[in-house]
Amino acid sequence: MFENLSQRLSGVFDKLTKQGALSEDDVKTALREVRVALLEADVSLPVAREFVKAVQEKATGQAVTKSITPGQQVVKIVHDALVDTLTGEGEPGDLKIDNPPAPILMVGLQGGGKTTTTGKLAKRLTEKNGKRVLMASLDIYRPAAQQQLAVLGAQIGVDTLPIVAGESAVQIAKRAKQQATLGGYDVYMLDTAGRLQIDETLMQEVKDVRDAVNPRETLLVVDGLTGQVAVEVAEEFDGKIGISGVVLTRMDGDGRGGAALSMKAVTGKPIKYVGLGEKLDALEEFHPERVAGRILGMGDIVSLVEKAQETIEAEQAERMMKRFQKGQFNMNDLKAQLEQMMKMGGMEGIIGMMPGMGKMAKQVEEAGFDDSVLKRQIALVNSMTKKERANPQILQASRKKRIAAGAGMEVSDLNKLLKMHRQMSDMMKKMGKMGKGGMLKQAMK
Ligand code: GDP
Repeated sequence: MFENLSQRLSGVFDKLTKQGALSEDDVKTALREVRVALLEADVSLPVAREFVKAVQEKATGQAVTKSITPGQQVVKIVHDALVDTLTGEGEPGDLKIDNPPAPILMVGLQGGGKTTTTGKLAKRLTEKNGKRVLMASLDIYRPAAQQQLAVLGAQIGVDTLPIVAGESAVQIAKRAKQQATLGGYDVYMLDTAGRLQIDETLMQEVKDVRDAVNPRETLLVVDGLTGQVAVEVAEEFDGKIGISGVVLTRMDGDGRGGAALSMKAVTGKPIKYVGLGEKLDALEEFHPERVAGRILGMGDIVSLVEKAQETIEAEQAERMMKRFQKGQFNMNDLKAQLEQMMKMGGMEGIIGMMPGMGKMAKQVEEAGFDDSVLKRQIALVNSMTKKERANPQILQASRKKRIAAGAGMEVSDLNKLLKMHRQMSDMMKKMGKMGKGGMLKQAMK
């Protein structure tokens, strides 16, 4: 997502990073281009203006840190400003769903992905949060709609409210509430009817439903590809019924990113989730840091270093350093490294943070090397005994078979992991020999 804006900004900052020093004129020129890029990405004019102004104020008068180039400094400032603009209250994806049964009202225009998102979110709440979820379709206008949700529910193993012909939306909502209470559900999700355009009848109906159940969350589902229109739809819904958050769908397409940026700035409502495909697990929490990083695309080594400092517990690093210097690197160390990578946003996150690697991140993604690979590798280590982890050289055929089976994988997968471990172990030994001033120590400073 956001490839267009990312490439634009890449061009702008390429010019900057090639220069040694950064004058005020340079900042201005660069920011003018940032503004154009934002407008082209369908960010609304006031938001783009506000954004550039904030960056300008921060950039001017700030001493350039010695260890990084002026260009990198501006990248960092732009990045932080993007995060500021994108950040909502609370944790990404936070939903107020204590006090069971908690009603979640799903609203939006037809075709925005409302029903799909209802299913995705229900699946997520069930699988990740261990909630018991009941879904109900309030779309009495398209007979197929209620059926669609029932099919979806069966697919993901989430209960749906039985369909009763002839009921009004409010009646269905009340029945859902009753059923959720009696059935001991944690959450009940109401998938309201959509229209092609916002109209008064739709709004009134949603208001009536809102008043009948008093939802804990009212989530607006909008198509992220519609850019500015998505923001207008959000303003409209928020003004009329009040929304607690937004889900931007189709962020897997060549969206222009502007919707995400304007949405928060204009409506003041947080983007809680983004839809990244038609599959029912293609829903992600909205991470301002990640999106800002992607918008910038080119990334920067500064935030890589920062992130490394944040996440690596100092003692752990120190302890590992000592082991590495002695040439020790067993499976527990490998696991710690893999977990570290997960924390830093996975392969994609790390590569995205290295200068000039923005494009490569996409290739990595396309090659199928995503976080699930890291997770699988960690699962393999978890399947080993204590003794095996400490001495991976004892792994013979029968042990390998048991470990792979335990992690639900093939021996060939385990062999790949062992090969990687050997290579890393060799590298660690070399670095250890370089002593205290070695590469690793420097990278962790
Ligand atoms: P509704 O009318 O708002 O309930 O929309 P639907 O949930 O029926 O979705 C309309 C179409 O958009 C379906 O074909 C979905 O598979 C598709 N869709 C929904 N969310 C996403 C998404 O995040 N990415 C992509 N590529 N397609 C999506």
